[in-house]
Amino acid sequence: MTQITDRLDQLRVQIATAAEHAKRQPQSINLLAVSKTRQADELRQAWSAGQRDFGENYLQEALDKIDALSDLDICWHFIGPIQSNKTRPIAENFSWVHSVDRFKVAQRLNDQRPASLPPLNICLQVNISEEASKSGVLPAELTALATEVASLPNIRLRGLMAIPASDADPQRQRAPFAQLNVLLHGLQQQLPNTPLDTLSMGMSGDMEAAILEGATIVRIGTALFGPRDYSQQQ
Ligand SMILES: *Cc1c(COP(=O)(O)O)cnc(C)c1O
Repeated sequence: MTQITDRLDQLRVQIATAAEHAKRQPQSINLLAVSKTRQADELRQAWSAGQRDFGENYLQEALDKIDALSDLDICWHFIGPIQSNKTRPIAENFSWVHSVDRFKVAQRLNDQRPASLPPLNICLQVNISEEASKSGVLPAELTALATEVASLPNIRLRGLMAIPASDADPQRQRAPFAQLNVLLHGLQQQLPNTPLDTLSMGMSGDMEAAILEGATIVRIGTALFGPRDYSQQQ
């Protein structure tokens, strides 16, 4: 077995164990393989081991891999910062976008989504730790943004995404994830006709805490592919 196959097996066990602790069904948690900086053949190995959802941060790098792997039935997620003049290729090539934090971007994705494709699945990124340097909508502004985005016909608003301030303590990691869960429940009350079913939260260092607090998508890079090497990037 390849190392990627081994790590994928290990992650599936870890997800199932955390789900059991949380008294949740393991199938209610989807593993998103975060493949930024990885070569197409590494993604192909993960695909061969059954992985179907892949997340990319950098648009040009992602488009190259989407092209190289067009023979595979991959579901592509965009999870990186979005420049509003680069929305068209995102609308045309991805099934999910996790990093929408302003209406202008959502509106452009809506307008540019090809009619031949199903609506684009969107998570709103929330600046849950309210860090000045981080992207994401502030919790106080979330309801207004979600209400606007939910009205767009070519967008399917699915839920929330967050990257909390890093904390090595597994107990303390849970608080911001619990907060995101509360925000999602609030939106479910406010927007009863929108199918809000997604909490995209948890990475390699805090996956268990996120699952305990209700994550439905965990975004895992390092624990699947190993440490990243940015030196090869253009
Ligand atoms: C890189 C990245 C991840 C994966 O992080 P790891 O710590 O390598 O698991 C998850 N989410 C986002 C938004 C990322 O940019």
